Amino acid sequence: MGPVAPVPEPLPAPAFDAHTHLDMLSEPVTRVLAQARAAGIAHVITVGTDLDSSRWTAACAAEHASVYAAVAIHPNETAHAQASPGRDAALAQIAELAALPQVRAVGETGLDYYRDNAPPAVQQDWFRAHIEIARSAGKALMIHDRDAHEDVLAILLEQSPPPSVVFHCFSGDAELAKRCAEAGYVMSFAGNLTFPSAANLREAAAVAPAELILVETDAPFLTPVPNRGRENAPAQVAHTLRAVAEVKGMDVAELCATVMATGERVFGPWRD
Ligand SMILES: [Zn+2]
Ligand SMILES: [Zn+2]
Repeated sequence: MGPVAPVPEPLPAPAFDAHTHLDMLSEPVTRVLAQARAAGIAHVITVGTDLDSSRWTAACAAEHASVYAAVAIHPNETAHAQASPGRDAALAQIAELAALPQVRAVGETGLDYYRDNAPPAVQQDWFRAHIEIARSAGKALMIHDRDAHEDVLAILLEQSPPPSVVFHCFSGDAELAKRCAEAGYVMSFAGNLTFPSAANLREAAAVAPAELILVETDAPFLTPVPNRGRENAPAQVAHTLRAVAEVKGMDVAELCATVMATGERVFGPWRD
């Protein structure tokens, strides 16, 4: 990864980064948050992928008022967690963290058929268990779906998820966006929407109802244009938000207000 991307021109109104990994960035959290604020990014959801990082995100959100946490065992980490500390022990700890007030989502969980770190049956079992945790804790469900759209949708249908379901780093086309919209699922678009090759993602954003759209960085990955090749950070979500506004023919300030309202509906009230 290259040097950290320069801070974008500030947005005309506050917005937030719906999915990031503050624990994976090379810069300290306080500096990352100050740069985000300078770009108009008032809040970030930092996301756990295993037990250690889930504990870390919960602690980070307890320490910083503008940070909220999501906790889960990532589908690519499920086989590892199954070996140690074991399925039930790991899930009990995720459930305990999910009950904390600064933890606003269970995720990232879901299915990843692109990598084969864990067999599909194992991923599906853990995904179902995470859905149950989200529902009983009354938190949003934050989904990682890579090359697994049909199985993710089928399991959501069977498993009665909580009211707020977010597809992080939405990777479908306009057709999948319509199906998600019918189900009331929120689509969170990442920096790859700005890539020249990503016409399918721009078409998906174009048909998605504005009130079901969020934007995220998934930092340190997927740095948006014009900073590809540099390290991503929450401030960069300003570029993605501007790109989504352009695709939807919306005023940038209006989209900022819309994603902030959707964020509170999905993740609960902001603390500051
Ligand atoms: Zn993911
Ligand atoms: Zn992620």
